[in-house]
Amino acid sequence: MISQSALRELARIVGPDHLVTDRTALGEYGTDGTKLAFPPDAAAFPRDAEQISRILRVANREGFPVIPRGAGSGMSGGALPVRGGLVLGLRRLDRILEIDRENLVAKVEPGVITADLQEAAEQVGLFYPPDPASIHISTIGGNVAECAGGLRAVKYGVTKDYVLGLTVVLPTGKILKTGVETMKGVAGYDLTRLIVGSEGTLAVITRITLRLIPRPDAKETMLAFFRDVEEAVETVSSIIGAGVTPTALEFLDGLCLRCVKKEMGLRLPAGAGAMLLIEVDGTRRAVTDEAEKIRHVCLHRGALNFREASDPREAETLWEARRNVSPSLYRLRPHKTSEDVVVPRSLLPALARHLDGLARRFGLPIAAFGHAGDGNLHVNIMYDGDDPVERDKVDAVVRELFMEVIRLGGTISGEHGIGITKAPYLEMEIPEEGIRLMGRIKKAFDPNGILNPGKIFPPAGADPDQQGVQKRGERR
Ligand SMILES: Cc1cc2nc3c(=O)[nH]c(=O)nc-3n(C[C@H](O)[C@H](O)[C@H](O)COP(=O)(O)OP(=O)(O)OC[C@H]3O[C@@H](n4cnc5c(N)ncnc54)[C@H](O)[C@@H]3O)c2cc1C
Repeated sequence: MISQSALRELARIVGPDHLVTDRTALGEYGTDGTKLAFPPDAAAFPRDAEQISRILRVANREGFPVIPRGAGSGMSGGALPVRGGLVLGLRRLDRILEIDRENLVAKVEPGVITADLQEAAEQVGLFYPPDPASIHISTIGGNVAECAGGLRAVKYGVTKDYVLGLTVVLPTGKILKTGVETMKGVAGYDLTRLIVGSEGTLAVITRITLRLIPRPDAKETMLAFFRDVEEAVETVSSIIGAGVTPTALEFLDGLCLRCVKKEMGLRLPAGAGAMLLIEVDGTRRAVTDEAEKIRHVCLHRGALNFREASDPREAETLWEARRNVSPSLYRLRPHKTSEDVVVPRSLLPALARHLDGLARRFGLPIAAFGHAGDGNLHVNIMYDGDDPVERDKVDAVVRELFMEVIRLGGTISGEHGIGITKAPYLEMEIPEEGIRLMGRIKKAFDPNGILNPGKIFPPAGADPDQQGVQKRGERR
């Protein structure tokens, strides 16, 4: 609970128009991409780092939680106020401050929508590659806090590969600059890298310096249909093995295809059970050469059908529909648990076999799609939350999936973060000493534990209050 006097102080800091306390209005700030819901006590929308610093000092004195929030598209519950407290909305810090063409650097505030930065860079012939499928809604601040990946990660890497420096407000209220504005820099520990991907638990990001690259001249989109999932994912390694690194190498299984074929305008070849959606970019000549190599590999691996998008408009329709695969899956069942596991690319066929076995054994639809070029699959366990039998199976499916992923040398999260939904499983991947060290780092940044508590750490470990937190959240 936040006391009335603290609420008055918060209203003085951000202005009464930028503090929300009405319970109904607060609803939208208590949920995110997971569709779980936890009501906050209030939501404040500061204008700058100075106001955020003052808010965090009040929170330290009064002992209430502060939860940074971008667009609320997170898939692991990172922005959920699981213990109530103040949601700190960053939407008013939304300026692109500079795009420096000589130094290939952009300086932005965290509330900028990812697609807006990409467009601004492209307008001056530059390129900001990270492109989570949520680019039209997610913020750069949320991308940095989650170290978002995306469709182009196979060739260009993920958000951390582009963050040069940050300005942050520490939980104690101190404002700190980390990293550099240059292409290189190794002065001291890399605090920037530590904060990237820390899911809003170590600091509030208020300014970001990003590396840009020159915009490629040309690109080409291709589709290849396969009889089954194994054939499709085996082809992924063959494409990379042929010396081509596509910009994007996305995979959709048969269930996903059924859910999005209308939006994609697809006519599925008879017997199609999986699809690869592939993009190459570069000079016109490189694009033509690489597209030809990919065509050859796909047909050699038994593709039922291979074709190139007829024009940029068709290509954009295909990519837009790909970005909407995740929400379209609700056609299969009213609820889903969405995991984003990664295995070494060459072991994708083994993961695909395992998923097939899980779906058969537990009798639940499991739809998989995602960034196969990175070995990163979004595994969606579809179920009916009102059916206790189906609901109870989900945890067992997730646990078996994670065991297999770790056995294959992979990780339980490639890009969505741990948040609350994966916290109960973190110990499966990170050894006890690693988790203890992370706990000490958290304490050094946030001695009173006010910034985004209840996230990342396993419920029964450093943070017993978190036990059952996921189950307490209501589904929307
Ligand atoms: C349809 C769909 C597709 C998606 N596709 C992808 C994908 O391809 N790749 C991918 O990586 N993710 C994907 N996501 C997940 C999500 O969009 C990303 O995690 C994104 O980075 C979250 O950004 P956001 O602004 O919505 O952050 P939020 O959800 O608001 O917050 C996410 C986390 O960041 C913290 N945070 C936010 N802003 C700040 C800040 N300024 N300072 C400190 N902490 C902060 C929050 O506390 C929280 O822990 C997808 C989500 C959806 C709904």
